[in-house]
Amino acid sequence: MRRVGILALQGDVGEHRSVLDSLGADVVEVRRAGDLDGVDALVLPGGESTTIGLLMASSGLDEAIAKALAGGIPVLGTCAGMILLASEVVDGRHDQKSFSAIDMAVRRNGYGRQVASFETDLAVAGLEGGPVRAVFIRAPVVERVGPGVEVLARTSDGIPVVCREANATACSFHPELAGDARIHAMALDL
Ligand code: GLN
Repeated sequence: MRRVGILALQGDVGEHRSVLDSLGADVVEVRRAGDLDGVDALVLPGGESTTIGLLMASSGLDEAIAKALAGGIPVLGTCAGMILLASEVVDGRHDQKSFSAIDMAVRRNGYGRQVASFETDLAVAGLEGGPVRAVFIRAPVVERVGPGVEVLARTSDGIPVVCREANATACSFHPELAGDARIHAMALDL
């Protein structure tokens, strides 16, 4: 069985856990560096990327996760988790933490505030079984992707919303809220 860690400092950890349970993963909530031992794949949840970043720095998890990502562990970041995987964050805090796992620039809250949250159906390349229900909540807008980044889904306006580079996959929306496990299964090799 694959052991999957969820970064559990803040954010919608329980929703990811439900999806991973449904895929038969052995789920570990990651709160300190030692929790990463033996983990085969990692989820960075939605929440507040600034808060998650500060808590990672104070627990030493930032360095431990950076090392795991550099070692090639499959990782899925959703919403705030997407921001944590980006190489460039626009409208972030000056000390905003991100791992540069995917060569892309993201703008925090780029679709607008909470009232501008929305849902839509999206075709995701490589997923069978029809479109994915995508829930966007104060989501980041991907403003630039590098040449090595594969864009697996876009909005009807052409904005990338699922991006993959090497072992890292990032989603602007929250697949964990729609009860659809396909993106997790693809991104984490489950
Ligand atoms: N707006 C949040 C941030 O910048 C992300 C929102 C979310 O994860 N739903 O971190």
